[in-house]
Amino acid sequence: MGLRRDLLLFPGGKKKALTFSYDDAVTQDAQLVRLMNRYGMKGTFNINTGLLGTEKTYTRDGKTVSQNRLEREAIHAVYTGHELAVHGLTHLDLALAGNAAAAYEIMADRKNLEDLTHTPVRGMAYPFGTWNEALVNLLRSCGTAYSRTTKSTGAFTIPEEFLTWNPTCHHADEQLFVLAERFFEPEQKYSGPRLFYVWGHSYEFDLREDWERMELFLAQMSGREEIWYASNIEICDYVKASRHLQYSADGRYIHNPTALDIWLSVNQAPHICPSGQTTCLDRQETV
Ligand SMILES: [Zn+2]
Repeated sequence: MGLRRDLLLFPGGKKKALTFSYDDAVTQDAQLVRLMNRYGMKGTFNINTGLLGTEKTYTRDGKTVSQNRLEREAIHAVYTGHELAVHGLTHLDLALAGNAAAAYEIMADRKNLEDLTHTPVRGMAYPFGTWNEALVNLLRSCGTAYSRTTKSTGAFTIPEEFLTWNPTCHHADEQLFVLAERFFEPEQKYSGPRLFYVWGHSYEFDLREDWERMELFLAQMSGREEIWYASNIEICDYVKASRHLQYSADGRYIHNPTALDIWLSVNQAPHICPSGQTTCLDRQETV
């Protein structure tokens, strides 16, 4: 038997995924979500529920913009169809807060979001992007599935450790459109899934007056057959499910004990592992 190579595909056999992560639930999120919806995008919004309805301005280079937070009552309508995730109750720097305060910030925020969404909220983005090992362990204890950092990779890799999930780039990154081009570059042989992960704050579009640039990016990325448009938690859950596939000694049988259908590229041919079933790979395919 030749050396077989199994590579993950996204649902439907797609080779690429695109996701977004926006922080702080500022009022400009309403405009961003409208844009994202227009282009069929899906994203994740990280919310400090303890700061909802508060007013603030932000000044940079002599320009002042609103940093007002959405009202609690507006959350449901603004974000329908997208994921809501934890960002700490009051945007405390959790890496400096100490375990007890950090645990409260995380779980109180989560409880508030779950009261709004009526579903378990398992995602998070680190306030200020700061984290340390103690905080990661705390998140693990809390049952948090993933947490996003602010460290851009400039790459399309799937994280090994979702509790320190580094995004591809910030939306204001000068390389945004170069990365988009690279994302679409054809490859002779499939070498694994590509994930494009963009993060930011929507008040930054007011600050830089670059809403149009974002719309151009969304337009370029939209309507592509090969892309899975997904929230952070959908990607996290899918990838983690794929890590639970059970292989027979000779690799011919794959059992999928999870609740999600998993798609693989086996020697460059797509193979579905249906949820809860065992599939047999034809000997031909594996030679
Ligand atoms: Zn923030």
